[in-house]
Amino acid sequence: MDKQTTPPVCNYEGSDYQASFWDKGGREYEDRTEAIALKRLLPKSGRLLLELGAGAGRNTPRYLGFERIILLDYSRTQLAQAQQRLGRSDKYIYVAADAYRLPFVDGLFDAATMIRTLHHMADAPKALGQVRNALGFGGVFILEFANKLNLKAIFRYLLGRQKWSPFTLEPVEFVKLNFDFHPKAISSWLKDLGFKVEKTLTLSHFRVGFLKRIVPTSILVFLDSLFQWTGALWQLSPSVFVKSRKGDYEGRPGAGTSPALTNVLSLFKCPDCAHSPLTEKKAYLECSNCKKKWESKDGIYDFREPLK
Ligand SMILES: [Zn+2]
Repeated sequence: MDKQTTPPVCNYEGSDYQASFWDKGGREYEDRTEAIALKRLLPKSGRLLLELGAGAGRNTPRYLGFERIILLDYSRTQLAQAQQRLGRSDKYIYVAADAYRLPFVDGLFDAATMIRTLHHMADAPKALGQVRNALGFGGVFILEFANKLNLKAIFRYLLGRQKWSPFTLEPVEFVKLNFDFHPKAISSWLKDLGFKVEKTLTLSHFRVGFLKRIVPTSILVFLDSLFQWTGALWQLSPSVFVKSRKGDYEGRPGAGTSPALTNVLSLFKCPDCAHSPLTEKKAYLECSNCKKKWESKDGIYDFREPLK
């Protein structure tokens, strides 16, 4: 694929996001409400799960029912942090790649998650299309998106304190490469791509500074866990989780088409020319078709730029 056609990427390379935002940033409430939503939406078990925008692996331990998990992030340093936290084992595969050019053969995964990641996508439908291709038929997709139609934005708009309208379908870029989406836009993209929405939960109803300061976190988490179910009726919270499935599901377990999970090489394709399988060399994987070399170093496969 031509570079010019690839939308810009929000890169967390070298960022201390995990420490500054999650560990010390007073985000315990958001983290715990996400854990509850994932428990409600994710299948209990499966073979192969793709975690898009895995970052430093904050959510990864919540996917342990799956035999194998591929952690994908654009930032190598985030993946290195995840590796420190989770260790190197056959259970985890670390992949640095661009969400617009996924390096996986089609129909591979039983499930995929994308949490707090679409938020950074300038071309959301393109990224969602890549997820659709990577999932097997009947595969489950758990998507979190930041909701522009949230109560705070609605009030600010009605009071004239905010220029953009929360009611229109187009995404709003409120900070460079930070996008909020309208729930109807998300559901129509998913539908166009052949996903069937099965469940919608709303989260972070109480993401309000003064509430988080005066009300114990456990109480806010409990209340949010009740309010999450109202997502089936309306979505006015800042964060929304959608569970959808690729195609119609006929109740067969293991939607992915990869029988040989023992061979990691069988998972990958060349992100530039889609050739598979790649050939394993000492420090890289080589595409026998276009001759590009993709680095594999320190337990991380890097498909962002080919080696020179
Ligand atoms: Zn190639």
